[in-house]
Amino acid sequence: MSQDDGVTLNQPIAFKAETRQLLDILIHSLYTEREVFLRELISNASDALTRLSFEMLTNHGVLDPELEPAIWIQSDPEKRTLTLRDSGIGMSSADLAENLGTIAHSGARSFLEAAKQANGDTKLTDIIGQFGVGFYSAFMVADSIRVVSRSFQKDAQAAAWYSTGNDTFVIETAEKTERGTEVIIQLKEDAAEFTQESRLREIIKKHSDFISYPIYLGEKKERVNQQSALWRQQPRQVQPQDYLDFYKQITLDMEPPLAQAHLAVDAPVQMYALLFVPASLERNFFSLRKQEGLKLYARKVLIQDYCLDLLPEYLRFIQGVVDSEDLQLNVSRESIQSNRIMAQMKKVVTGKVIDMLKTLGKDKPEEFEKFWKVYSRLIKEGVSSDPENYETLLPLLRFHTVNQPQKWISLDDYLLEMKIDQKKVFYILGDDDRSVLHSPHLEAFRHENQDVLIMTDPLDSFMLMRLDKYKDFELANVANEMPDSEEKPKDDATQSDEPNLEQGELDAVVARFKGQLGERVSEVRTTDRLVESPARLVDPDGALNPEMQRVYRLLNKEFPTPQKVLELNPQHSIIKHLAHIREDAALNEMIIEQVYENALLIEGLHPDPASMIERIQKLMEKALG
Ligand code: ADP
Ligand code: MG
Repeated sequence: MSQDDGVTLNQPIAFKAETRQLLDILIHSLYTEREVFLRELISNASDALTRLSFEMLTNHGVLDPELEPAIWIQSDPEKRTLTLRDSGIGMSSADLAENLGTIAHSGARSFLEAAKQANGDTKLTDIIGQFGVGFYSAFMVADSIRVVSRSFQKDAQAAAWYSTGNDTFVIETAEKTERGTEVIIQLKEDAAEFTQESRLREIIKKHSDFISYPIYLGEKKERVNQQSALWRQQPRQVQPQDYLDFYKQITLDMEPPLAQAHLAVDAPVQMYALLFVPASLERNFFSLRKQEGLKLYARKVLIQDYCLDLLPEYLRFIQGVVDSEDLQLNVSRESIQSNRIMAQMKKVVTGKVIDMLKTLGKDKPEEFEKFWKVYSRLIKEGVSSDPENYETLLPLLRFHTVNQPQKWISLDDYLLEMKIDQKKVFYILGDDDRSVLHSPHLEAFRHENQDVLIMTDPLDSFMLMRLDKYKDFELANVANEMPDSEEKPKDDATQSDEPNLEQGELDAVVARFKGQLGERVSEVRTTDRLVESPARLVDPDGALNPEMQRVYRLLNKEFPTPQKVLELNPQHSIIKHLAHIREDAALNEMIIEQVYENALLIEGLHPDPASMIERIQKLMEKALG
């Protein structure tokens, strides 16, 4: 028997061109979780409703125009059936054969293409389907599926489609008075869970909460979804409180986020995003977010709850949602990762996050300071590990400085306050802020009143392996540098009043140090860079640089402490006194030893500081005696 439109009724029809095998692949490997079949069927119903509303824009003669556009879901545990009903566009017998009879044929996509041709640039962003496979996912849970539908066209007859998911399906005439489609699933024995309303509610909330039409569940027709997707609204129409509510709703975080960003872009990909910086790195006990990652939606339908592929690792503390227009709904986790669109989205999202942080730093320095206290290490990790975003991350960095050890200064702040004749950004490496402030390397810089960045975080040394320049200014370690100035540090009140040493006397002191310290130093020489200290240790030319030495030490890698150069301050009274041979040779030796060990200590290189106590006590006795 045949209807007017030429569809064979009541006889098995083979699925067109595609085989049972393909169906199997679709069912068993495209989806990782069975529950997503519900999301697929709801998405189809939603598409059908959108297509109807589109039709009604121009056609005033549709069937049942007064029907509420909605989706109804009901189950029967006894019969083990699940029924989804919608008041959408419906399907004629020909539509059923065409749309559900050809795997990978998408009526939704044909519609989109036709609508595009007719309407130029109309964006039908609400249409979810386009690949023509979602429907078959229902066979993951179904022994058989029956679809009864009645098209919006008044003269079309109701029709049914039936299949057990084998090689064939059947199209029959059917009774249905109202417009729309009903999908009746005879669940497999092991899929009985999908008759429980609580389970259904959970799945709907998880995957389909933001579908634009009401979804009613059960006999009482309770509305389950909240419908509106905040991220798809115009940013200027959203109130701050709405963002806050949304954040709390998805995270259950008690503390408000430190910053947020709302993103709506058309190019290079069409996407929306709401991104938040949580106040703390630790998720609280009640948090709804169990792992890192963003919620990834494709056209308002959740496809991944914890997507790690949208941000580099060091930014994964960001919470929020990303919703793509271009991403396929029916993609598995594996294919998401290797997706070109995903790569573009990652770029956009990452750029937006960095931008949001930069804005926070500029507009709300106090909030940014809170951010910095929690997340500084991750940003530094980014500077050393992400060449792509390296430049844009640098303005986020904050440092204490020698002149302002209590404040957090950005590199730009540093440049602003720099002396006119200064050509480099100076920093000092060390183990903690307090001891660094006593370093002899700083003396000449203090003298010139040039500020120095303090780098005492273990990650700073890693970062400095990469960070060698900011804007046009080289970064330079004070241990290897002179302040940028023509003048040398002058004799002043801090220097001793005793007359300067003759060159011969000075050479003798240097020789004495060298003789006594032997292999422990590579060289002893004088320097004019010191003001208050008698001596300091510096690296010989060509040595592993101090940043690298620190990295090695932090990684606990065995490497011989490099031989250092001991530099002496010829202006210092201790050095001057050492020029005069004393009767008590032991005293001179002790002083030389102590000068060297003090220099070791200040560099954080002394292996056993307590061992100095004995010598210091002897020196005290001598001083008193
Ligand atoms: P896709 O949604 O990607 O197009 P599906 O396999 O999910 O692919 O669905 C195939 C087609 O079947 C849809 O494009 C649509 O034309 C049709 N269809 C499915 N469900 C419905 C429904 N509830 N109402 C109307 N048409 C439907
Ligand atoms: Mg679909």
